[in-house]
Amino acid sequence: MSDGPQSWRSRFPLLANDPALCYLDSAAMTQVPQVVLDALVEHESARRANVQRGTYGLAEAATEAYDKARESVRRFLNAADWREVVFTGGATASINLFAYSFGERLGPGDEVLISEAEHHSNLLPWQLLRQRRGITLRVLPVTGEGRLDLSQLDAVLGRRCRLVAIAHCSNVSGAVTDVEYIVRAAKAAGAAVFVDGAQYVQHGPVDVRALGVDAYAFSGHKCFGPSGIGVLWARRELLESLPPCFAGGGMGGRVTLEGHSLADIPHRFEAGTPPVGPAVGLGAALEWMVALPWAAIREHEQRLTKRLLSALTAAGDFRVLGPTDMRARLPIVAFGMDGVHPHDLTQLLGQAGVCLRGGHHCAQPLHAALGMEASVRASLALYNSDADIDGLLEGLERARRNLR
Ligand code: PMP
Repeated sequence: MSDGPQSWRSRFPLLANDPALCYLDSAAMTQVPQVVLDALVEHESARRANVQRGTYGLAEAATEAYDKARESVRRFLNAADWREVVFTGGATASINLFAYSFGERLGPGDEVLISEAEHHSNLLPWQLLRQRRGITLRVLPVTGEGRLDLSQLDAVLGRRCRLVAIAHCSNVSGAVTDVEYIVRAAKAAGAAVFVDGAQYVQHGPVDVRALGVDAYAFSGHKCFGPSGIGVLWARRELLESLPPCFAGGGMGGRVTLEGHSLADIPHRFEAGTPPVGPAVGLGAALEWMVALPWAAIREHEQRLTKRLLSALTAAGDFRVLGPTDMRARLPIVAFGMDGVHPHDLTQLLGQAGVCLRGGHHCAQPLHAALGMEASVRASLALYNSDADIDGLLEGLERARRNLR
């Protein structure tokens, strides 16, 4: 891919078929490029069969395609071993699986550290664990910009901390977590680190080994893949030490009426028929992503984000959330407009083909910390261009006239 955003957009059929659409909700769901649709159609029309069980050619081809998708995830994450990759239904399922399995060995006196900026999907599973196992949940606060307040880390990360569970990027403020810094502090305290990568992955491949994290989760539908598929990656020794969360076909070794042994990792965490087609689609999306020119894409996304932030700030009647330092954020811009409810704004702009999100974005504690009930969110991906920002700014100008 040697060309610019216009041709990136042309690779996404939904966007190519509707040139006027300003799709600015990629933090909720990215669009799907033709290569992924082709891979899905090809799989379902030539290799559809259940995996890991059949010995006929078709079933073997399906199993091979599923295994190949796992290898594509390994490559995207620069993980050491395909066995470390568990397919799930999405980031939420991955976090719940990890919270349950990791939590089985925790009890009263053990602490899990999260942050005030977490999506509910990386908060509620830990609250359930607190109810179930009596652990203590510690919380790293955010700064006024919505960044994790690392100056408070020593105060909340103690010797009893067993796990730090934080998002790689906030789905509201776009703030990127300094994961390496957190890993250093966590290791010094003897804690493992789990990262919710749901908002990070659509902005480029991740290197879990360079980050030094122990586990990482994300969803397919936020990185140009299908919905209904997600990933939980964990270091091999860690994954091997965890008990499974779900039981059923495919996860057992020897099974009798009295008991069972476990299949090897990752299969012991994938009870039942896995989402084969979606996994193949995700594999195609990640293969496509690793070949993209990410330095140029980041520059493009940053330029658009900067333009949007400057325009909102200059208008004077918006409260813009998130870091002002462009190096500390991804292209997710949440804001409030004085005297206008976010839902009124998103509805009005929606009628003009500008797709935005309004509400608390499943991050109520973060909004509370920033002194807001809700916000409007514009989230960009590689296929957005100046035309989308023009559409948004014109829509906001119309809203200013109509809603006040
Ligand atoms: N974490 C973050 C930061 C998110 O933004 C989201 C999705 N909005 C999730 C977790 C949950 O992802 P999913 O709904 O795909 O399971």
